[in-house]
Amino acid sequence: MAAEVEKQLLGQGAGASGIGTAVAEPMDGFAELAALFRTTMDAAQVGIFVLQERLFKYVNASFCRRIGFDAAELIGRMGPLQLVAPGHHPMLLELLQSGVQGFTGQQFELEVICKDGSAFPAMILSSTTQLDGQPALVGTVLDISAQKAAERRIRELADYDVLTGLPNRRLLRDRFAQLLAAAEREQSEIALVFLDLDHFKRVNDSLGHSLGDELLCQVALRLDAAVRRVDTLARLGGDEFILALPATHTSGAADVARRLLEAFIQPFEVGGHELTITPSLGISLYPRDGLDLETLLKNADTAMYKAKEQGRNAFQFYDSAMNTATLERLLMESNLRRAVSQQEFVLHYQPLVSLESGLIIGVEALIRWQHPDLGLIMPDRFIHVAEETGLINSIGDWVLCEACRQAQAWCDAGLPALTMAVNVAPVQFRQSGFVAVVAGALAASGLEAGQLELEVTERTVMHDADINLGTLSALHRMGVELSLDDFGTGYSSLAYLKRFPVGKLKIDRSFISDLETDADDRAIASTIVSMGRNLRLTVLAEGVETVEQLSLLRKMGCDMAQGYLFSRPLPAEQVTDLLRRQPFLQKEL
Ligand code: C2E
Ligand code: MG
Ligand code: MG
Repeated sequence: MAAEVEKQLLGQGAGASGIGTAVAEPMDGFAELAALFRTTMDAAQVGIFVLQERLFKYVNASFCRRIGFDAAELIGRMGPLQLVAPGHHPMLLELLQSGVQGFTGQQFELEVICKDGSAFPAMILSSTTQLDGQPALVGTVLDISAQKAAERRIRELADYDVLTGLPNRRLLRDRFAQLLAAAEREQSEIALVFLDLDHFKRVNDSLGHSLGDELLCQVALRLDAAVRRVDTLARLGGDEFILALPATHTSGAADVARRLLEAFIQPFEVGGHELTITPSLGISLYPRDGLDLETLLKNADTAMYKAKEQGRNAFQFYDSAMNTATLERLLMESNLRRAVSQQEFVLHYQPLVSLESGLIIGVEALIRWQHPDLGLIMPDRFIHVAEETGLINSIGDWVLCEACRQAQAWCDAGLPALTMAVNVAPVQFRQSGFVAVVAGALAASGLEAGQLELEVTERTVMHDADINLGTLSALHRMGVELSLDDFGTGYSSLAYLKRFPVGKLKIDRSFISDLETDADDRAIASTIVSMGRNLRLTVLAEGVETVEQLSLLRKMGCDMAQGYLFSRPLPAEQVTDLLRRQPFLQKEL
């Protein structure tokens, strides 16, 4: 078969003598040419092939060597489609088509797959020709692995710091452009941390540059271990490192900065020396302190110098208000710890009223912090700090126990059984022993599970829907009721709403406050009410303050309401009085 092709390629018709006979005959012009052709082909360093009707008609030695098939396996049996990754098939088919129409000199790159399954990048050059009077394709295959590797290495050298292997300023700029685009889209913040080692020059001067380099590499490793995978850690040169932290606000950046400082507590082992070195950090925040990398870098640098001025081994925000804010937060954090140990919390209760009967059929427990100097502090000011510091778990456990105890105390006092609604923070809900904590609170108080209702937000349950479904189901099996708080502000998926064993939706106050004037809010509220009805869920409106709001909600068919119109959250004794009097029963609100 190959001999036939040789003849064709050498311009001899079908009638000319075959290569087999050509060897036996004295060397005539054609045989000489054929031998020359074969030697040339076999000596060629590139793979050469001829295709006709999508099958190989000729392959040279180099081609066979590189892909691992021998000529007999390929010729007349296999085609190029079997040797390239499926991703390249469309391109190849197009080429085979155009080959029929006739053209010359086409060049393209693709991945060739060898007999053993390995693959290599190849440059293919092809032209059309005639074989046996029929169109055919002649091509060469050049293995370009080495060229690709070199290109990769050049890119690495251009993008990465040679000493530490960290991204350099160029790559930082590229990545930051992407972070900026995402932050703009999601309206999120980015923190930029400028980290500079304190007195690094002394290390270089006393121990020499190679140990200084070694120290920088170790610093890079420690920093890398202290940040998330989504963060970019780059080295600008010298002892300056930059961290770009997407979706990070003030307190998050302060946490990272503290973690980075902690990473330097352990001394470094360099060339048999134990070295202690500290960093100074400056932080700027997008968009507050700048809208582009250059400005943010400049401002983080300024903040870093402030940290140096203040005695090094510290971090500073560019915006000095942020420094006060973190200080306040730190004070708040230590105060909160004390509050937990000193039991400075109290619960107030707000009635949940049935719109059909006017009966108070439940109360929501709302925490307050009775601060010895500052007086009563509302949850919006401290719950997020409690969540970020993990203190919410012990606070939440206390709330659960106290609320269950109070509900049972009202039962024991002869008041009709009511629902006790307790807010559960996301962190608390996800802690592993949460179901056991709830069971414990019920057992300790003697309250029936059906009287306890846990309020979770959409964000809490959607966060890790599958894990949370397990917790929700376990609570549901215990008989505990579940409601979705602040409904409408998160990203509820209707599919999940159906799957979760939730019994109540609480329409967020933000939709209720402008109910009379805002047609959109009215539409949302009424949609939630009818959706709730279709899914057989109870719907409660939060923050009802006016008679007008109430009558609109009634018209929509809302089941329950809560708000200042009925009562503010009150201490237990005052609620006892309300529960006895049931003042909303008769009142035509
Ligand atoms: P929430 O669960 O949505 O609670 C309702 C909030 O709306 C309460 O604020 C309540 O006082 C307020 N409110 C009720 N009716 C009206 C009204 O007619 N008008 C206005 N303007 N506001 C009304 P509060 O007590 O400040 O609690 C704020 C948030 O703090 C709660 O929102 C809840 O998310 C959280 N929270 C409260 N107690 C706890 C707790 O024990 N644990 C946890 N994890 N979070 C809690
Ligand atoms: Mg609530
Ligand atoms: Mg709410």
